[in-house]
Amino acid sequence: PFPAFQNHFMSNTAQDTIVAIATAPGRGGVGVVRLSGPDAEGIAGKIVCDRSLTPRMAHFARFRGAGGEVIDEGLVIAFPAPHSFTGEDVVELQGHGGPVILDMLVAACIAAGARQARAGEFSQRAFLNDKMDLTQAEAIADLIDAGTSASARAALHSLQGVFSDEVNRLVEDLIGLRIYVEAAIDFPEEEIDFLSDGKVAGDLRELRAQCLRVLDEANQGRLVREGMTLVIAGKPNAGKSSLMNALAGFDAAIVTDIAGTTRDVLRESIQLDGMPLNLIDTAGLRDSADVVEQEGIRRAYAEMRKADRLLVMVDSREGEVNPQDIHSLLPQSQQQLENLDLPVTVVLNKADLSGMATGPLDSDCFVISATTGDGLPDLRDHLKAAAGFKGAGQGEGQSRFSARRRHITALEQALAALDTGEQQLHGHAAGELLAEDLRAAQKALEEITGAFTADDLLGRIFSSFCIGK
Ligand code: GDP
Repeated sequence: PFPAFQNHFMSNTAQDTIVAIATAPGRGGVGVVRLSGPDAEGIAGKIVCDRSLTPRMAHFARFRGAGGEVIDEGLVIAFPAPHSFTGEDVVELQGHGGPVILDMLVAACIAAGARQARAGEFSQRAFLNDKMDLTQAEAIADLIDAGTSASARAALHSLQGVFSDEVNRLVEDLIGLRIYVEAAIDFPEEEIDFLSDGKVAGDLRELRAQCLRVLDEANQGRLVREGMTLVIAGKPNAGKSSLMNALAGFDAAIVTDIAGTTRDVLRESIQLDGMPLNLIDTAGLRDSADVVEQEGIRRAYAEMRKADRLLVMVDSREGEVNPQDIHSLLPQSQQQLENLDLPVTVVLNKADLSGMATGPLDSDCFVISATTGDGLPDLRDHLKAAAGFKGAGQGEGQSRFSARRRHITALEQALAALDTGEQQLHGHAAGELLAEDLRAAQKALEEITGAFTADDLLGRIFSSFCIGK
């Protein structure tokens, strides 16, 4: 009685054959060039001098360049459709891992009729050919980009379908309820009984609880992937760098540059028990009349506005401080930070010099010594709790799979639709309106796995992948 949300791309089988280097740029022992599409074998045949290829068998071969000259030698493996990553005919050419050789190999494939693949196009084809759903395709990117072992493990679980299974179960239950409700509408003489017999209300409540549980888990999964972003502010010599080092030193620090960092904002990422903690340094903030510098500072503030929390560092020897009076704790040049409207944690440092007892002063104020490490465990626990992070293991409430902000939004939309549906039921026993809300909830959930997608969504997701992925 209701429309199936079929992916309208499914029937869109690719006509052209794409090629890209699949291995990382730079030099290595081996480099892989991958072809996918209906003419993959034909094109590879021209490169390897028409050597016949047994499916999934590694053959040693000489590779010929665009001009017919031998450019390399290595292994060639054919994966005929549908038993390949993309579901199409795929051929891998494994040559020597030098950028010049691999570029020549790609050029030879293009001369033989292939087209350079766009970013994420292999994964996109795998999705369109039903080899994996959208959440799993995103998990591949997350697995490759993982900055911690916990986020790698979570991404692998998503790739293996743990998240998709949860969402599909919700969709199944939702469809069951929709059938029941729509039957009630189709047989109006029985509608009152159907809607008031308690089953609909009970199912709706249960569905809502399940949705909330998946949302909570997805939030943990997002934290394992993205973590929390913290702006560290305070007067010079308060101990900001020392704190960053002390926090980093706790676990073997993984200090990385974050992609998309503007040159004006210094960021580094460490991890707190599996949760990435992205630290933004405010050292570059100062008052300036220089137009270029002003622009840099404006951008720094724009970046900081997206942070999750502001940590203000104070030297505890300054005497009585009022943690609520952020203004007096910040240097003149950083007082705009107050206007960011972020929750604030105040840290009183150098307890070893002031003689203050380390530990929490109140829920958002901590006394520590960055040098001795005293008081740091409380601060770490506070930061994890502030982010809502429960751990990256396998325990109760911890993240079992990775998730992205887009998934959270979709789950929230589904939940909101269920809530309105519940109001329709209790307020007006309005079957049609409830049915409409259930349909909206299903659509939101199906956007997660890609069973239902808007055109621009696929473009946005896959274009953020690398070429060759
Ligand atoms: P920043 O300018 O805020 O980044 O401050 P730094 O981290 O560079 O610290 C300034 C000075 O204070 C350095 O000499 C640090 O060694 C020292 N320092 C920082 N934290 C502590 C602390 O907890 N105890 C003591 N005794 N010295 C500290």
